[in-house]
Amino acid sequence: MRAIDVIINAISRYTSTKTSKQFGSYYQGRRIIPYRLTNSQLELNKILNTCRPEIDLYMHEQVVNLHMHSVYSDGHGTHHQIATAALNSDVDIVIVTDHNVLVHGVEGYFQNNHRKILLLIGEEIHDQTRQPQKNHLLVFGANKELSPQATNTQQLIDDVRASGGLSFLAHPVDPAAPAVGEGDLSWENWDIVGFTGIELWNAMSEFKSRLKTKLHAIYYAFNPNRIASRPFSDIIKKWDELLAAGKRIVAVGGSDAHALPGKLGPLQKTLFPYEYHFRTINTHIFTTFEMSGDLNQDRKMVLSSLERGNAFIGYDLPASTRGFRFTAKDKDRLAWMGDTVSGALGVTFQIRIPYPAECSLLKDGRIVKTWYNLEHCTYITSDPGVYRVEVYIDYLGRKRGWIYSNPIFIR
Ligand SMILES: [Zn+2]
Ligand SMILES: [Zn+2]
Repeated sequence: MRAIDVIINAISRYTSTKTSKQFGSYYQGRRIIPYRLTNSQLELNKILNTCRPEIDLYMHEQVVNLHMHSVYSDGHGTHHQIATAALNSDVDIVIVTDHNVLVHGVEGYFQNNHRKILLLIGEEIHDQTRQPQKNHLLVFGANKELSPQATNTQQLIDDVRASGGLSFLAHPVDPAAPAVGEGDLSWENWDIVGFTGIELWNAMSEFKSRLKTKLHAIYYAFNPNRIASRPFSDIIKKWDELLAAGKRIVAVGGSDAHALPGKLGPLQKTLFPYEYHFRTINTHIFTTFEMSGDLNQDRKMVLSSLERGNAFIGYDLPASTRGFRFTAKDKDRLAWMGDTVSGALGVTFQIRIPYPAECSLLKDGRIVKTWYNLEHCTYITSDPGVYRVEVYIDYLGRKRGWIYSNPIFIR
């Protein structure tokens, strides 16, 4: 078989199978009561204002890679190999989402000399009888096999919610790649309601969009760091429309990692190893507490942060996005991404960027202000609306999306 066919087959295998509390936080030894649990927000602000200048103390950043496949479906790594890759990267949590199978008995913590990570299990469900096999749904925390319900997407979403789980529309825009014989697996049924969020940025969909010819496939297979640029504008537009309609839709980024085996001449290579993916598009969440080491408690906390949208999407390859913050302070409280504040007496937005970059604040999908080469940005307003942040970075000769925050709502 020609080398190019081997690579094309690897890509095809990917898409063809794809179609088949402890309460309390501490600062300088003093216990800080998390704001979500206090009776009086004013009291907490008083504590915070007196004991710390920074806002991080009662939220902890965790880097999550939340969409990937193992040997249980069309991925090529075991859970142990995935955990090892996670330990070798900078992620704190991975969620393995095999197609139409909820794998039991593999969740837990993995540790080496330096790091400890948490591996959780979710599922990517779609109707395998449908052609083309669109409408893939990422399901987290349902704790039961729901793939038999896949023929009715709304029923499936309802069942996930009834089971206490979260649902995210996977690769909602997933363009066809005719040069390598791959179809469009976009989300099609937009009549659905009640889902938690969308996968705003899917690494493999963006890769597919680059495959104009078979030569492009080879080029990007061997130059993966040139693939990611930004989420598709169509899905950002859709997200803004849903938010403007008053829906709370949480955006996450996913790798859709498969660790596909590929070969070019004498060279054998895994196309996009897990570890590579874990260094690229991640979802950074904010949890109220540090990881406790108690699986049930930590799982619950992670899912809760995802549900509330206390999260942003970070493209960590050009530079780590750890440390990005977007908060809003109204008269009474400090709000994080995913939260709502009152605009009655004015709101101060604060943005902190890990390194100086181009940063835009958007209201209802439109840019209201852009800052250049700053690490700290402030904006004061009382206008009700949906506010979110996009940050761009220059990398390999191109301006690329670096950070996409979830919104803060001013009501
Ligand atoms: Zn999928
Ligand atoms: Zn997938």
